[in-house]
Amino acid sequence: MTKIKNSEKGSFFLLNWQMGKKKTAAQPQTGGKKICKAIHQYSNGKIGREDMDRLLDIAQSCKVVCNYVYQKYGGIRSIDKIYPGYTVQNEMTASGLREKLNLPTVYFYPAVFNAVREIKTQWAHVKRNIYAAINENEKFTPEDKHYLRFAVKIDGCFVNILNGKPVLIPGEMMPKYESIVSDLQGDQSECVKSLNRYLCRQVRKKLRKIHTEKFLYFSVWEKGYRYGKSKNAEGRECHGIFLTTKERRKRIFIPLTDTNQYSGVLDIKLKPEKNSVEIIASVFTGIRTHEDYTNEIGISLGLWDMITTSTGHVYGGEFGKMQKALYDYSVNERRIYGRENSDAPRKKYSIRREKMEEALKNYINREINRMFAEEKTEKIYMAKLPQNPGGRAEAGQYLLRVWKKGYVTERLKWKCRQNAIEFIEVLGKSLSVECSVCGAVCETQSQSGYEDFKCPNCGYEEDRKVNAARNAINRGKTGRQLNKVFPAES
Ligand SMILES: [Zn+2]
Repeated sequence: MTKIKNSEKGSFFLLNWQMGKKKTAAQPQTGGKKICKAIHQYSNGKIGREDMDRLLDIAQSCKVVCNYVYQKYGGIRSIDKIYPGYTVQNEMTASGLREKLNLPTVYFYPAVFNAVREIKTQWAHVKRNIYAAINENEKFTPEDKHYLRFAVKIDGCFVNILNGKPVLIPGEMMPKYESIVSDLQGDQSECVKSLNRYLCRQVRKKLRKIHTEKFLYFSVWEKGYRYGKSKNAEGRECHGIFLTTKERRKRIFIPLTDTNQYSGVLDIKLKPEKNSVEIIASVFTGIRTHEDYTNEIGISLGLWDMITTSTGHVYGGEFGKMQKALYDYSVNERRIYGRENSDAPRKKYSIRREKMEEALKNYINREINRMFAEEKTEKIYMAKLPQNPGGRAEAGQYLLRVWKKGYVTERLKWKCRQNAIEFIEVLGKSLSVECSVCGAVCETQSQSGYEDFKCPNCGYEEDRKVNAARNAINRGKTGRQLNKVFPAES
């Protein structure tokens, strides 16, 4: 699931937005009721060969910068340099790499920050995995686990332990640390040493080398571009964007399909095969508040009906059908084109597939909006999706479904934030086999069939998904909530 997420634009743009925030005073603050949204712009007409080569050259250099940062700062010894990251920036300035690549600063620094951000993401991932390993390890006493979790959580502990230095933590945390250590059984100093060795081993095991082969996108600072008018390839004046190049005083003009202008860091995605460019800008949009949204509902996601509510309504009834069409298309076309050597039909195939994907995404978004407008809720309760649900379906189809479910959840959460609706996740265990009226758990209920839920205890009969959605709202209201996502949180 993480892997799929990474390929999405979301994480990439978000990182730039956060970097851009610091650099551009013109950006509004995140405080108050504002959230960040990705906006896409597209080039109009074909980009000339020479200009495309210039852009590819910039992207290539940015790739070199990213890989340089990964190699130099992605390891254990550099962990203290990436928090908060200014050290990396300064050292990269001094490295001379920018001059060697002849890369303008407006591309160089965003590339450095993107890479640092990726390294931080990787560390967060490592830490999460270590927490899981600690929890699962039966040899540790509760006190050992307490110590280890503290050591991972507090940077002054974690970083120094990894580098074999004495722990250095803020004064107010020191008594806490000392009390955790004094709770350890046996020879405390030996115990600490052995637990620290365990942490180091875990990190060595879980930290992977990062490397990117992505050479079709880069980010640019606000100083590196300007919106304006100029002549396109046919000599007609049109609106577009000027981008800094490696050559002094020379800017590339890219005509755009719209006349919108954005600020802050932009992500530029090159599509040399189509001679086109996609620009991803991040804008802050206000949160919409709806006075008349006062209901609370539970929802249940499905593979066929996208969302079923505790009120018995279905949104996204075509969801499964569209997914299946997309899946069937991919399988068939791949089988046919997989044998051919020419690229042309394959290209046709991928364009069609992209269109189908796009249509499905639009459908998902429309149906979520429709749900908000019709249900008028201020709170939505949903079971947290399992990390690794056991899949019975065929691998490919299963993955596609998981991806789409992830997409639905992501959009739901985002749209809830945008509309000041509280999204509350609840425990999902036996949600579909519990009776929402009397609470009896009927393990014998078929979970895969399409028949209704029938409670052997009280006789309650209802659509399975509606019953699950009703359980979600019941659990949420009785305090069995996992995490609340409040509208103001980003
Ligand atoms: Zn019952």
